[in-house]
Amino acid sequence: MTAQTVTNWAGNITYVAKEVHRPRSLEALGALVAGSARVRVLGSGHSFNRIAEPGPEGVLLSLAELPPVIDVDTAARTVRACGGVRYADLARVVHAHGLALPNMASLPHISVAGSVATGTHGSGVGNGPLASSVREVELVTADGSSLTLGRGDARFGGAVTSLGALGVVTALTLDLEPAFEVEQHLFTELPLAGLDFEAVAGWAYSVSLFTDWRREGFRQVWLKRRTDQPLADFPFAAPATVALHPVPGVPGVNCTEQFGVAGPWHERLPHFRAEFTPSSGKELQSEYLLPRPSAIPALQALDAVREVIAPVLLTCEVRTVAADEQWLSPAYGRDSVAFHFTWVDDLTAVLPVVGRVEAALEAFEPRPHWGKVYSVPAPVVRGRYPRLGEFRELAGALDPAGKFANAFVRDALGD
Ligand SMILES: Cc1cc2nc3c(=O)[nH]c(=O)nc-3n(C[C@H](O)[C@H](O)[C@H](O)COP(=O)(O)OP(=O)(O)OC[C@H]3O[C@@H](n4cnc5c(N)ncnc54)[C@H](O)[C@@H]3O)c2cc1C
Repeated sequence: MTAQTVTNWAGNITYVAKEVHRPRSLEALGALVAGSARVRVLGSGHSFNRIAEPGPEGVLLSLAELPPVIDVDTAARTVRACGGVRYADLARVVHAHGLALPNMASLPHISVAGSVATGTHGSGVGNGPLASSVREVELVTADGSSLTLGRGDARFGGAVTSLGALGVVTALTLDLEPAFEVEQHLFTELPLAGLDFEAVAGWAYSVSLFTDWRREGFRQVWLKRRTDQPLADFPFAAPATVALHPVPGVPGVNCTEQFGVAGPWHERLPHFRAEFTPSSGKELQSEYLLPRPSAIPALQALDAVREVIAPVLLTCEVRTVAADEQWLSPAYGRDSVAFHFTWVDDLTAVLPVVGRVEAALEAFEPRPHWGKVYSVPAPVVRGRYPRLGEFRELAGALDPAGKFANAFVRDALGD
């Protein structure tokens, strides 16, 4: 046990916990879980709220010292990875076997288990959240015993994007596909007026639009093209002439290779290189997923309050996410457009603006990203998840005493 202070990546959260443990074996992990009243697991700590916090009576577990496992089955095209693995490490091993994940988030430093637990996603009209690659989840449940939930099990819809509420995820098995190469083509100054969002969002395998909301339209367009798919000339904006960073004015040196240079999928799908920390962590983030047909009216609603947003914004990214079947996924049952905001590191200044953004988007029934800053009231969020009741039943069956239910989870699930 260590009594040290643990903070999240951004440094805006210091987790309240009675004890912090880093078990070195699955047996030790099982005994710790069985013998503790409250347990939460910390992944790579890239969430911006108290989702991972166990509370003053609880144990915070890190899986970083468990034996590392990344087993690729080339015949089955799957990989089984232990609960603490980060995407950067997983991707290197998978690529070395000539295989690939279909998509990645903006940075590869995040843990796989923590990412899929919150519905983390990349972009692409045909790409679901990262959880949609998961075919099997191995858990240590409240009594310390092991449980495997795979596709085809009636409970699987709650098993992956679970907010950490079902137990400790000790391993995940993910579907893979043959390795592919990607080129990044960047453009600048895309007007909002007259934007054909469907055309732009579907122009390449993965598309991101960035704006600072300081004036109308988008400062940057990032097209990530698979080299096994065609790419038509992009007629709506001018090609970038220097390497860009999503935050205007920041040099693009920490970003993945641009200017159409083809490279492995895992070195192009994230915006940030695995070998650099993407920023100092001095930021906060919020994100909302809306039905994709709402993209243009929602962008107009944000444009109407851009003078409120811009002073506390570093960058805003617009992506698309294909509908997902995980009951608690923010993309559940809806092809989605995702509005992401990287804010300055000043919660007092940012929170009122978060409220204004949420008010502007309210008519489009946004589902907030579980791992980021939001203030939509919990009952409103709950009303946006039609399968929430089934998740609550599953959590109740696996964890009747609520060992894995912290304040965040109790709020999210309700009674
Ligand atoms: C710079 C930056 C960029 C980001 N980019 C994106 C992006 O492109 N797309 C996007 O959607 N999000 C993005 N995020 C958000 C991020 O992906 C999520 O917050 C994600 O949950 C981070 O994973 P983590 O391992 O750090 O999770 P943590 O914050 O450590 O944990 C998240 C949740 O997972 C649970 N958990 C973690 N591991 C386990 C386990 N083994 N067993 C059970 N429960 C577990 C925790 O208890 C907690 O509830 C970004 C965040 C940052 C800081």
